[in-house]
Amino acid sequence: MAGILKDSFNRVHNYLRISLTDNCNLRCFYCMPEEDYEFTPASRLMQADEIETLAKIFVENGVNKIRLTGGEPLVRKDAAKIIHSLSKLPVSLTLTTNGTRLDDFADLLKESGVRSLNISLDTLQRDRFMLLTRRDQYDKVMNNINLCLDKGFHVKVNVVVMRDLNTGEINDFIEWTKDTPVHIRFIEFMPFSGNRWTSNKVFTWKEIVEEVESKYQVVRLEDEKHDTAKKYQVPGHAGTFAVISTMSAPFCSGCNRIRLTADGKIKNCLFSREETDLLTTLRNGGDVLALIQQNILAKKKELVRQFATDFAHLHPVEIANRSMITIGG
Ligand code: SAM
Ligand code: SF4
Repeated sequence: MAGILKDSFNRVHNYLRISLTDNCNLRCFYCMPEEDYEFTPASRLMQADEIETLAKIFVENGVNKIRLTGGEPLVRKDAAKIIHSLSKLPVSLTLTTNGTRLDDFADLLKESGVRSLNISLDTLQRDRFMLLTRRDQYDKVMNNINLCLDKGFHVKVNVVVMRDLNTGEINDFIEWTKDTPVHIRFIEFMPFSGNRWTSNKVFTWKEIVEEVESKYQVVRLEDEKHDTAKKYQVPGHAGTFAVISTMSAPFCSGCNRIRLTADGKIKNCLFSREETDLLTTLRNGGDVLALIQQNILAKKKELVRQFATDFAHLHPVEIANRSMITIGG
């Protein structure tokens, strides 16, 4: 029966992020665990038809935005089939990608009605890209960003900011927005299992804005409802920038997100330890909607704040969560 997915704090959940795989063709150290990582075998992942069935249940219950993520969603062999099937649903469909495969997918994404893309790129220097991702794909990503701009996509560039690693490049990214309509989203470095996070590597929202203000005049733009990003622009620049302040100023009160992992489990928060297995229930013919409703009703008011307000004293061993690559960022 059609309805809406509301938690006990009256937050309506209408935004579903589906991870298509925990596999990836890059090896960003802050996302993948340090030890040899074994990708989930294909049989344990949701199959294309199962993704469609689950997505439909969410859409019948009020979800109107779906983001595909991963791992790298575009390394999945049947990614095109999944994008095509989800494009038929009455949702705004979008994607977070490392950009390496966009040359093969840009036309399909256009035809599927995708208008906005989030592409991750943490540095504008080829050598540093290699250091961060352990793969030599900088030119490919940059070319694909330009290709997507040429094709008229709204391009947001996700930059994870880590002190002393790429903080010196913040204003290079801002300079890029001068003549190019790219929308830079600086993301505060978040802790996950095995990702070498330490509190002193977090470069906060305040510090990021101060860094930009040291060189440019900056105006704050109006935030969109439920948006996790605080938006800014340098007057006269073609693009904008924003900060996702998960660590220093979390935004739980407006949360409308549900995450579906590639192995078919839902997490009601990026930092929740509890997961609800939808895939097994779907395969056994059980009541998936009831599980979704229970999971959302059990959502905590705010989880990230448990450590975020005082992240300076957080020790990485206290973080019990999947690694980012298995959650789907
Ligand atoms: N492979 C795709 C990509 O890189 O865009 C999609 C998956 S990735 C996990 C989604 C986003 O999470 C990326 O923008 C990535 O930079 C971000 N991310 C990964 N680990 C992070 C961390 N520890 N802190 C902040 N953001 C992180
Ligand atoms: Fe792969 Fe994206 Fe994680 Fe980098 S951030 S390892 S590209 S999933």
